[in-house]
Amino acid sequence: MKIYNFSAGPACLPDAVLSAASEASQEYQNSGMSILEMSHRSKSVVSLFNETSDNLRSLLSIPSNYHILWLQGGASTQFSMIPLNLLPEGGSADYIETGAWSSKAITECAKVANVNVIGSSKKSNFSFIPKNCEQNIDSSYLHITSNNTIYGTQYKEYPQVDNPDKFLVVDMSSDILSKPVNVSEFGLIYAGAQKNMGPAGVTLVIIRKDLIDSNFRDVPTMMRYKTHSSKD
Ligand SMILES: *Cc1c(COP(=O)(O)O)cnc(C)c1O
Repeated sequence: MKIYNFSAGPACLPDAVLSAASEASQEYQNSGMSILEMSHRSKSVVSLFNETSDNLRSLLSIPSNYHILWLQGGASTQFSMIPLNLLPEGGSADYIETGAWSSKAITECAKVANVNVIGSSKKSNFSFIPKNCEQNIDSSYLHITSNNTIYGTQYKEYPQVDNPDKFLVVDMSSDILSKPVNVSEFGLIYAGAQKNMGPAGVTLVIIRKDLIDSNFRDVPTMMRYKTHSSKD
């Protein structure tokens, strides 16, 4: 009997995927080796990695001016990486607080930059998505959580930034790949794999290429998007 996990994650996987993974753990594509024993820089692993990114690019119609990063540290590490990479020293960002995960994103951003919480449904136990929140003129981006994993509220329409120099950042951990999205509405999309995409262990970041080069401050090397994008 097949048991399905209907909790927020990890995602159910198709049988074909499970079979391919168990086969690859024994021997990968007649190489005489398990994929688990191969160098992560070997041809086989690099091409598997590229194929995964290509598949995602076509599934989500990700435009060519966006880079796909597969990172470690969970979506929670993005709570810090985003402000560290994308805000100058003393810079600010707008956040809409719609659940426990956006609260955590706000807490981490506040450690390294100025946070404006421009809308919050906290007082009503996160029972709704605040609409028409006024954005701050000096904010670099607006951060939202597209689906509130614990409270079950979800954006049906994403807010627009109020000037072309700003961009939208979204934590899509628990609804990514559940429907088509227009990637070009966002500067950065991130999601831990273990809610909607698969098992724990990898975090997806889809970032507009011009934002990768933001170099506002001395970010620790492994926390810089540029480090990861330049070496895949
Ligand atoms: C689970 C979850 C997170 C945290 O993900 P980790 O990968 O465990 O850090 C962040 N945001 C949302 C919306 C989540 O559902």
